[in-house]
Amino acid sequence: MQATIIDGKEISNHIRAGLEQKVSKLTAEGIQPGLAVILVGNNQASRTYVTSKQKSCKAIGMHSELIELPEDVEEHVLLNEIEKLNNRDNIHGILVQLPLPAHISETKVIETISPNKDVDGFHPVNIGKMMTGQDTFLPCTPFGVLEMLKYMDIPIAGKHAVIVGRSNIVGKPAGQLLLNENATVTYCHSKTADLASVTKTADILVAAVGRAKMLNADYVKEGAVVIDVGMNRDENGRLCGDVDYNDVVDKAGYITPVPGGVGPMTITMLLYNTVKSAQKVLANRK
Ligand code: NDP
Repeated sequence: MQATIIDGKEISNHIRAGLEQKVSKLTAEGIQPGLAVILVGNNQASRTYVTSKQKSCKAIGMHSELIELPEDVEEHVLLNEIEKLNNRDNIHGILVQLPLPAHISETKVIETISPNKDVDGFHPVNIGKMMTGQDTFLPCTPFGVLEMLKYMDIPIAGKHAVIVGRSNIVGKPAGQLLLNENATVTYCHSKTADLASVTKTADILVAAVGRAKMLNADYVKEGAVVIDVGMNRDENGRLCGDVDYNDVVDKAGYITPVPGGVGPMTITMLLYNTVKSAQKVLANRK
């Protein structure tokens, strides 16, 4: 039987409609949620992501600002820009588009963003809060994965979730968020022996590897929920995931397509975090 397709665009639109109302209420209270994005250099992919983030902000009535710095910008200049944004009242979220040029320390940059405006959820303070189950900004892509599962009413507690990939921005937090929801979590990575024997035991399989169509039906248990975070190009230059969709779609119970799956959720959760930050400012003012 064909898997139920988890439609990231539909879920995104649903969440964004709710956010638009919150933005309008906040704006009426004199706090228009604002996101500042810093783009260093001229990486085309980064520019495309940034443009899309700005467009999405504006579409729901948020303020958005782009700060562009040259590829050879000195680290202290970038850190100084972040400090200025930390101190601005009309900016509730700060995002520095990664990757950065090699001469700039990503760690220093992330740690300079105020944890109160770290809407990417990458600051160690916010990661620590996520790990200890405290309220915080959750990293956008894993947060989007969780929201998709919840929207589809897919049970998580007691299920075996297998995460393929252990990056700090996707794999590790995805596993942590599912653990927080009482899943039993296994992480796989490039040194995992006999990957298929592990992934085939997953009730929920999250692929965050970065290898086009690597996981075919041999890696998937009948009826499993398959979440494909991967964004790759196939042999024809077309966007595709880490999962071999056509091979898996008849075996899985649920599946996310690429494009139109996790992708749209990432920006939506960025908007969500920025609105949440503005709401905190309002709550503190009252
Ligand atoms: P990274 O390259 O940082 O991490 C990849 C992970 O996959 C690593 O943990 C690596 O293991 C593991 N891995 C690599 N090869 C294998 C293998 N053969 N078997 C098992 N594990 C393997 O990537 P990201 O986490 O940043 O991104 C993953 C994918 O998600 C990419 O396609 C990226 O484009 C996409 N992405 C999509 C987003 C969205 O909005 N949809 C947002 C962010 C990313 P090890 O640690 O041992 O090296």
